[in-house]
Amino acid sequence: MKRIFRAASLLQVAHARNVLIAAGIESELRNQYLAGAMGDLPMMETWPQLYVQDEDELPALRALARAEAAPSGPPWTCSECGEVLEPQFTSCWRCGAIDH
Ligand SMILES: [Zn+2]
Repeated sequence: MKRIFRAASLLQVAHARNVLIAAGIESELRNQYLAGAMGDLPMMETWPQLYVQDEDELPALRALARAEAAPSGPPWTCSECGEVLEPQFTSCWRCGAIDH
């Protein structure tokens, strides 16, 4: 297996894992519970990490790169109909209003 992602924050790794799931790629989360039990390991080796099968390495990296390029931020609320929208949408899918 190949390690494709690691971060100090489990939240970031969980997010990356969700991106992979959305892309149909299976991944394995390691070191989920190791933080705090560092011992003599280099710090980055104790971070939560994501592994994928060797053949999934490229598609997984592409999926993560795409997700990184996507706009991010807090959800916004449509001023026309009140729908709460994810930040990657620039217009309301319900009524078509453009907000922001
Ligand atoms: Zn709307």
